[in-house]
Amino acid sequence: MSFRGRFAPSPTGRLHLGNARSALLGWLQARAASGRFLLRVEDLDRSRCRPEYVDELMRDLEWLGLGWDEPPLFQSERDSVYRAALEQLEREDLVYPCFCTRAEIARAASAPHGLSDEGPRYPGTCARLSLAERTERARTRPPAYRFRAQPGEVHFEDGLQGTYAQDVSAAVGDFVVRRNDGVASYQLAVVVDDAATRITHVLRGDDLLSSTPRQLQLYTALGLSAPRFFHVPLVLGEDGKRLAKREGAFALAELRQRGLAAEPVLGLLAAWSGLGDGGPLGLDELVYRFRAGPLPRTPVVTRERAIIEALGLP
Ligand code: GLU
Repeated sequence: MSFRGRFAPSPTGRLHLGNARSALLGWLQARAASGRFLLRVEDLDRSRCRPEYVDELMRDLEWLGLGWDEPPLFQSERDSVYRAALEQLEREDLVYPCFCTRAEIARAASAPHGLSDEGPRYPGTCARLSLAERTERARTRPPAYRFRAQPGEVHFEDGLQGTYAQDVSAAVGDFVVRRNDGVASYQLAVVVDDAATRITHVLRGDDLLSSTPRQLQLYTALGLSAPRFFHVPLVLGEDGKRLAKREGAFALAELRQRGLAAEPVLGLLAAWSGLGDGGPLGLDELVYRFRAGPLPRTPVVTRERAIIEALGLP
């Protein structure tokens, strides 16, 4: 099976150096394997995504030379595909409508443990409503749809983090696959799209490591085969916070508009990936170095001053 990788940014803000590092590593992985690299725009959340960020991120990637080999996929155009997947799950009684508000879930959950990125573990309030109860509830509130998390641990072998295991049912509970505004959730869309584009290798930030067991349950439920996963440790500021969460996280568009060349930026990203000492680098050299070495396994901690110096910014 030939290698297919992808970069899947959400256009909710400008791409920063941390995103660029994930894009670069994904691109290098594809090039080093003589495979294909795809771009998918994860623009499902219309209230948070902006078209100008889409234009900008494409120009950023082109500026760095990280081109994509097939037309980009836009999640906002794929609602019918996500609906079909939801219907498939519905036929097998693997999803159910949930009428709970966030506040109700918070009250019902046995906090403080069981906090996942979805909030507290969903206690299953709507899992066994009768048809009459569902009809009654639907009068006042459109439902979200939840996937019935399967019991037991999900294990997988991450290409960078080793074995990772999670009991989805215990840690997260039944999770949302369609929000109550009708939009597919990230977990469902990412699985449907990676499968539809025959992605073989998913390289992304390790903030998504704990989402992967949920995604693996969806692969199984939909009868799809899962890709291999590589969760790269994030780039952190000195305070231990993700670069992305910091003010002035060095937007690529900003650096590009200042007239900076791509090579110093690639050199810095390479240094954060164990592929260089910080000096300017071109992509050909990076592909060559990438073939030879292992991927980064530990978080990178950086200082703003170091970035400014490496890029020769005033
Ligand atoms: N869109 C997600 C993000 O920007 C990444 C999804 C993925 O790579 O699976 O964080």
